[in-house]
Amino acid sequence: MPAPPEQAPRVAIVTGGSRGIGRAIVERLHRDGYAILFTHSSSDGEAAVLRSALAGGAPPCAALRIDVADAEAPARIFDAAQSLGRVTALVNNAGVTGAIGSIRLLDDATLSRVVATNLVAPARLCREAALRWSEGTPRAIVNISSIAARTGSPGEYVAYAATKAAIDTLTRGLARELAPAAIRVNAVSPGTIDTSIHARAGEPGRAWRVAQRVPLGRPGQPEEIAAAVAWLLSDEASYATGSVLEVTGGL
Ligand code: NAD
Repeated sequence: MPAPPEQAPRVAIVTGGSRGIGRAIVERLHRDGYAILFTHSSSDGEAAVLRSALAGGAPPCAALRIDVADAEAPARIFDAAQSLGRVTALVNNAGVTGAIGSIRLLDDATLSRVVATNLVAPARLCREAALRWSEGTPRAIVNISSIAARTGSPGEYVAYAATKAAIDTLTRGLARELAPAAIRVNAVSPGTIDTSIHARAGEPGRAWRVAQRVPLGRPGQPEEIAAAVAWLLSDEASYATGSVLEVTGGL
């Protein structure tokens, strides 16, 4: 597909945009004037609701149901995004924890899915961006990490935590490798955010339980992560690359 002209609308790719933190990022970046291509894996209608909520006004917003862990996903995602305009931003947000529990209970299928979704997929999408963004126009990537990268989440989900630590390392390495191509690479590392990821892991009330240890006394809201992502993507953050910005309420 030929590269669109410089005056085409700027497009942000957000993986896992149908709910939770990803949804808040989609809504925030759309308000900031980006055309949006978001991906999702769910079939429960959340993506359709979001797309129709944003479809009325410009710039355009499109959804792509795809497993980010598929080898073909990066090319399909970038092709779909390029049909909307000039892709200048990539947010690797889609992530899964697996069920909460000891590593003794961790089965191979879950381990593979966690690594494929949280690490392999973002690495492939960063590679796709590096291959397509070759002409030196400033662009930015934000990877969604987790404070679990530092705590290790013992007894809860250590494999998930390890993938997030790898994301921090990927972010720092790519920031240095891609700086000459004018591509900034940063991560946002949320603390405990009030989304359905905790119910999916088997403990719906986890965000509020953990919040008892949070200095600010509450779980974060998805919009508070979206604000950090929006800043790191913006020209206001033009000197920020290789950073892992913790947004944790002090945890
Ligand atoms: P969520 O479960 O509410 O949403 C996850 C999104 O990712 C959904 O849109 C889902 O469709 C998508 N997704 C999952 N697997 C996918 C796959 N294989 N292919 C395509 N899409 C897929 O989760 P959330 O709480 O909003 O988390 C978003 C990100 O933030 C994740 O990377 C997560 O690790 C990270 N994070 C969350 C918290 C928290 O407390 N909620 C804390 C730290 C980090």
